[in-house]
Amino acid sequence: MLYIDGEWRGAQSGSSFEVANPATGEPIGDVADGTQQDAADAILAASEAFSGWSRLTAFERSEYLQRAYQLMMERKEALARLMTEEQGKPLKAARNEVQYAADFFLWYAEEAKRVYGDILPAPRSDQRFLVLRQPVGVVAAITPWNYPVSMITRKVAPALAAGCTIIVKPAEQTPLCAMEVFNVLHDAGVPAGVANLVPTADPAPVGDEFVTNPAVAKITFTGSTEVGTMLAGRAATTMKRVSLELGGHAPFIVFDDADPEYAAKGLSLLKFLNTGQACISPNRIYVHDSVSARFLEVLEERVGRMRAGNGLEEGVAIGPLVDAPSLEKVDRQVQDAVAKGARLRAGGTRLMADGMDRGFFYAPTVLSGVTRDMEIYNNETFGPVAPVIEFDNEDRVLALANDTTYGLAAYVYTQNLGRAMRMFEGLDYGIVGINDINPTAAAAPFGGMKSSGWGREGGREGITEYLETKLGGFSI
Ligand code: NAP
Repeated sequence: MLYIDGEWRGAQSGSSFEVANPATGEPIGDVADGTQQDAADAILAASEAFSGWSRLTAFERSEYLQRAYQLMMERKEALARLMTEEQGKPLKAARNEVQYAADFFLWYAEEAKRVYGDILPAPRSDQRFLVLRQPVGVVAAITPWNYPVSMITRKVAPALAAGCTIIVKPAEQTPLCAMEVFNVLHDAGVPAGVANLVPTADPAPVGDEFVTNPAVAKITFTGSTEVGTMLAGRAATTMKRVSLELGGHAPFIVFDDADPEYAAKGLSLLKFLNTGQACISPNRIYVHDSVSARFLEVLEERVGRMRAGNGLEEGVAIGPLVDAPSLEKVDRQVQDAVAKGARLRAGGTRLMADGMDRGFFYAPTVLSGVTRDMEIYNNETFGPVAPVIEFDNEDRVLALANDTTYGLAAYVYTQNLGRAMRMFEGLDYGIVGINDINPTAAAAPFGGMKSSGWGREGGREGITEYLETKLGGFSI
């Protein structure tokens, strides 16, 4: 269903599309297939709601967000189960995501009350300068399937806190999770038109309306660099504000002064999260040649113990990939690496046993001896493959890590304080984990440099993406 102007409704075309469980291939729902006209209607509803919503006090907007937080926490288990069925991640990871998603409601319920202005020193004695921060207006958001709840709240919460109204187009693989987020907003009493949802099986016409409709002041997008670049280019023709959270190609560097066993444990936990389908997933694992043997031994052993399957089953650590093209891409990268001389240490094949042939399962995979001529070295995998590359020198590994158009997340394992600081400062990435595999939280700014995007989500910074700065010069 579409959620427009406070009501659930079908699409104008009358058509719908099926949503399937990627672990079993079974249909789990049928969702209204939004059209360009539906998107235009949602934008109109958001425009009409803007004046009322933006004039509420920050305290009033904060209360709606607090209620949304409470409701999402009450529905955590049901939402996590739905996420596992619709997206595939193991239940434990789904619960973590719902918590992370709800945290954005709570964090921005507080930040709504901290949108301050400034009074500046003016050059003339009869002059006063005031700086005011105001909501940008109607926001159009496009979100991906890999984190189907938190990627929505990370946009909706700061937008609403700032006083903006919003229309969300969720990924076509995960509209059911998106609908549940909007049920939460509806039940929290968010006024009609303030937040609207337009699922669709054909993103182009809805995206087209978002980037061309003059009533939209801002586009916020999370997804691939390719689509983000296209949308930003088109949005520029009407000077819409744009925030982009795009792809990554994260380096994970293990120095000779680090504990290789601890680093291998960290990598096994991080790389295979969400079956490797995360923008901050390590994609190039540089290990100092003096510790690589032990690192690989522990990694192989841990990966060997991981159980793949339906995420609703106890003990499952690896869910399915989202669809058949993703499976093909992962296998192509692995086969290309092996053909060019990489050593396959674990995995390397599609999983078919125990009914997994009905879904899109790929064995957790470890490759060593990966080199720069391999596709996996150069492109985001978005799958459960750990490509290991040996190195022998700090300056060289820093140059290699930075030698990519991406700049989202990087990880470093070292016990040397000076080296940790040199890497933190030298890595051209928006997020750097030092002996830390989870440098994310609602309170922390998330985002990338270079082709990984523009702007930040979360933290103090997240709300500024939805605010304009206005200067008042007063002659008295
Ligand atoms: P994608 O193909 O770019 O899709 C993302 C969203 O864009 C989906 O809602 C998709 O709709 C929509 N879309 C596709 N073509 C469009 C068009 N012509 N007009 C308007 N919307 C369009 O990305 P993906 O492959 O699903 O997601 C994975 C990518 O997202 C990876 O590169 C990953 O690194 C990145 N990501 C980044 C972050 C971050 O915070 N930086 C977080 C998560 C994911 P449909 O679903 O209908 O195709």
